[in-house]
Amino acid sequence: MQKIFLKNINIVICAILIIGVSCLEFANYSIYKVGLRDDIENISKLTSSNIYTEINSELSKSIHISLTMANDEFLKDWLHTEEPGNAQKEDKIKQYLAALRSKFGYDSVFLVSTRTGIYYHYEKLHKVVSRADEHDVWFYNFLALEKDYDLIVDTDEVKRNTLTVFINCRLMDTDGTVLGVVGVGIQMNQLQNLLRQYENNFNLQAVLVNREGILQIASDESLLSSHVFSLLDKKLHNTFLQPDTVIKGHWLNYSNKDDYLVVRYLDALDWFLVVKKDTTPIRNLLISQIKNDLYGLLIIASALIFFVSLLISQYKKNMLHLAMNDELTGLKNRRAFTQALTTLLIENKNGGQEALLFVLDIDLFKNINDTYGHFFGDKVIIRVGELMRECLGSSGEAFRWGGDEFFGIVHCNIEQGQAVLEYIHAAVQADPLCMSCQLTLSIGATRVGKDDTFDSLLARADKALYNTKNNGRNAITLFNPVA
Ligand code: GH3
Ligand code: MG
Repeated sequence: MQKIFLKNINIVICAILIIGVSCLEFANYSIYKVGLRDDIENISKLTSSNIYTEINSELSKSIHISLTMANDEFLKDWLHTEEPGNAQKEDKIKQYLAALRSKFGYDSVFLVSTRTGIYYHYEKLHKVVSRADEHDVWFYNFLALEKDYDLIVDTDEVKRNTLTVFINCRLMDTDGTVLGVVGVGIQMNQLQNLLRQYENNFNLQAVLVNREGILQIASDESLLSSHVFSLLDKKLHNTFLQPDTVIKGHWLNYSNKDDYLVVRYLDALDWFLVVKKDTTPIRNLLISQIKNDLYGLLIIASALIFFVSLLISQYKKNMLHLAMNDELTGLKNRRAFTQALTTLLIENKNGGQEALLFVLDIDLFKNINDTYGHFFGDKVIIRVGELMRECLGSSGEAFRWGGDEFFGIVHCNIEQGQAVLEYIHAAVQADPLCMSCQLTLSIGATRVGKDDTFDSLLARADKALYNTKNNGRNAITLFNPVA
């Protein structure tokens, strides 16, 4: 019964803890999830905007410098008086281009003369452009475009065919004749470094793709020329690459994770900047935090259950002690006596050991109280209880019924019982405290018979005591019922 009660209390505590903490964890998780989604969207969009702005400002600066070159009177004069083979003149143009390159840190600064077709470079005279050379197609295409400037992504022949963004500007004479094409080249690894820097700082992936979705620039070179879909775990509709000015965010929901994708069109390059934020690390962090909380909860719940069990069992022990023991003497009380006698009768019916029941009452105790006071009376009651316990030893047990009345059960035959009772009687009479108030005892006892019931046994013991009292007290009456 007690165990079931204890188990139930532990189950209730566990349930309250687990349900409570789970609800809290779930609420926290939901709040964090919404907060994290907002953070991820903001970080991804902000990163996309920053990369977009940096690329655009780099390109704008380069366009501006290229346009300045295109309007430079020195270049116009020089082209008017261009003399192929004149080393002195060629040195001047090389110095001019080299100075611009070193001032602005470009990978390439060039001038192509429309009259001679010579491609001047800051280091050397590279070549004479020709329609037949596929590397020079850009030059003729640009002239045909009739635009002041244009951006193209091409390989730089001078720099071992590295992918470069060239800004080409038309250098015109006052009469509208095109004297040449000038411009600068920015190598793609500059953009690559820019993307890498953002990737490292914000723990995301940033790539530049063309209209077909093919990767043009990525920090990981092995990804170049693959399709942007290879970065994603699921295919998106190709319309997500729309050349408009709006920054677009897409949540890609998979069964085990979510990715956030930001797409932005870079009109200067006709490319798209794609930023992907993988939520797995943050999600894993959150889950591991929840796991830690639950492990913590498990430890706390176990400790709590252990201490509650300890407390309850201690409390039960105390309650049981109070319920079964007499406060004044420390002997077992009337309730414990009833239990013990019931058990004895059952054992006796089943052929248990022979036993004796006795009732012990202090003679004229009222007078002792009246003469020596109740406090002294208490001391006497305590002393009589102690003497009973000592005399019975392991052969029996003493109980306080109430007032100055005690019961005892002795496991022995009638002769031994008689001896034990006389021993108790003599011990009390020889005790200094009892002697000081001339205390005497009356004892009524009976052997426990096979056919005895609770009531018959008590009635016979009482009758024996009554006989002692009636016969002048301070004696023992022992009944032996007919077997
Ligand atoms: P008898 O020989 O007939 O037993 O006479 P008695 O005076 O002992 O009988 P009675 O039962 O009338 O008196 C018992 C007294 O014990 C009455 C009561 O005031 C006193 N008593 C009961 N419980 C306590 C107790 O815990 N402490 C003290 N000091 N006195 C108690
Ligand atoms: Mg009495």
